[in-house]
Amino acid sequence: MIQRLAVIGGGLIGGSVVRAARKAGAAASIAVGDVNPAVVARVAELGIADLSTADLSQAVKGADLVIFAVPVLAMNQALKAALPGLAPGAILSDVGSVKGAVADALALLAPEGAFVIPGHPIAGTEQSGPDAGFAELFENRWTILTPLSDAPDYLAAVDKLSAFWTAIGANVELMDARHHDLVLAVTSHLPHLIAYNIVGTAADLEEVTQAEVMKYSAGGFRDFTRIAASDPVMWRDIFIANKDAVLEILGRFTEDLQALSRAIRWGEADKLEELFTRTREIRRGVIAAGQESAEPNFGRDRK
Ligand code: NAP
Repeated sequence: MIQRLAVIGGGLIGGSVVRAARKAGAAASIAVGDVNPAVVARVAELGIADLSTADLSQAVKGADLVIFAVPVLAMNQALKAALPGLAPGAILSDVGSVKGAVADALALLAPEGAFVIPGHPIAGTEQSGPDAGFAELFENRWTILTPLSDAPDYLAAVDKLSAFWTAIGANVELMDARHHDLVLAVTSHLPHLIAYNIVGTAADLEEVTQAEVMKYSAGGFRDFTRIAASDPVMWRDIFIANKDAVLEILGRFTEDLQALSRAIRWGEADKLEELFTRTREIRRGVIAAGQESAEPNFGRDRK
C-alpha cells in the first residue's frame, strides 16, 4: 500500500487515478497538485483528495509515490516545480502517452535516490479536466511501465508501482520505452492523426456543406469526430514528442493508402475484398481481448 500518493495534474487521468486509489484503498492519503487554480479549486470541491494545491512542492511532500499526469511536454516543468518537496527514495512515475522523451526528461531532472519509472495507462476518453475523471477508467485496461534499470532496489520499486496499478484495476505490462512509442504510434497516435485530418478535410470542403457533413455523419464520419474531439494541447505534445515513431508508421500508412488508391482506380475488386476481410478479423481480435463490446455499432442506443 502507498502511504502518501501525490498526483500532479488533476485532469481526466490524474482525477481518475485519485478516485480509483481512494475507491480501492490503495493509498493512505492523497494529494493533488495542479498549476491551474480552477482545477485546484474543483478537486477540493469534489473532495477526491486530502489536499489540493497549486504549490507542487507542497503536494509531493512526504509522498512515496508521485505520478505526473500533465501534458507530455509539461512533465519537466512540473517535476522542476515539485523538486524542493520530494522525499528521498520516492517513486516518480507518470501517465504520459509518449515514453522515450518523458523518460529522458524525468531521469535527467530526478534527484539522486529517487526511482524514475515511466508509465502509461492505455485508457482514456476524449474529455479533459477533473470532472471527466472516474474511478473505473483503468478496469481491465493495460498500464505499460517502461523501467530504466534492473538494480534490485529499483525492481522492488517497479513491483510496488505495479501493485498500485493492479489495485486500481489495471493489468500491468513491462516494455522498453522506444518499443512502447512505436506500438502506440500504430494503436493510438496514427488513428488520432487520421481522425484530425479527415474531420479537418470535411470542414474545409466547398462542394459539401458543413451542415450536410453533420446531418449525414452516421455513415462513419461521426466515429472519427469522437477521436478528433480529444484535447488539442495533449495531442500537440504527443506528435512533437513522438515524432520519429509517428513519421515511421505514417510512411508505411501512406504507402498502403497509395496501394489502395491504385486498387480503386484499376477496379481491383479482389484486392479490396481481401483487405476488408482481413481487417474484420482485427476487430474480432479486439473484442476477444476484452477491449471492446461485441454489440453492433459500439452498443449505441438507437435513440
Ligand atoms: P487534462 O485533463 O488536460 O489534465 C492535465 C492537467 O494538468 C490540467 O489540469 C493542466 O492544467 C495541468 N497542467 C498542465 N501543465 C502543468 C504543469 N506544468 N504543472 C502542473 N499541472 C499542469 O489531461 P489528461 O487527459 O488527464 O492527460 C494527462 C496526461 O495523461 C497526458 O500526458 C496524456 O498524454 C496522458 N494520457 C491521456 C489519456 C487520455 O485519453 N486523455 C490517456 C492516457 C494517457 P490546465 O488545465 O491549465 O492545462
